[in-house]
Amino acid sequence: MIAGRVPCTNPACRRTAPKARFPEADTVICRPCFRLLPASLQRRHKTFFARDRKLSKLANRIQIDGRVEQWNRLVDIVQRSSDRINADVDAFFRPVEKPAGIDAFLEEIGL
Ligand SMILES: [Zn+2]
Repeated sequence: MIAGRVPCTNPACRRTAPKARFPEADTVICRPCFRLLPASLQRRHKTFFARDRKLSKLANRIQIDGRVEQWNRLVDIVQRSSDRINADVDAFFRPVEKPAGIDAFLEEIGL
């Protein structure tokens, strides 16, 4: 990993983004890789991050003092959504591999 840069989530892609722009991210998805995603996942991704941006702006504007519990619940929901979308994007670029040794075992028993 290059210092000050965040790599693309696609392991086959060598693009990076400035860490200053995405301070909390371990990976980002670049535009060419984003276009490789299925349309439904692209829509989910766009919708989620548009809502996340609105929520971040709202968090800076409103007083949360009296509603900390509700706010924390909302943050948990957003975090779970983010985790699910990121897991789906990761699964698209890193398909689940067969367990090690299954091919050798099948050859061994003649299948
Ligand atoms: Zn990429």
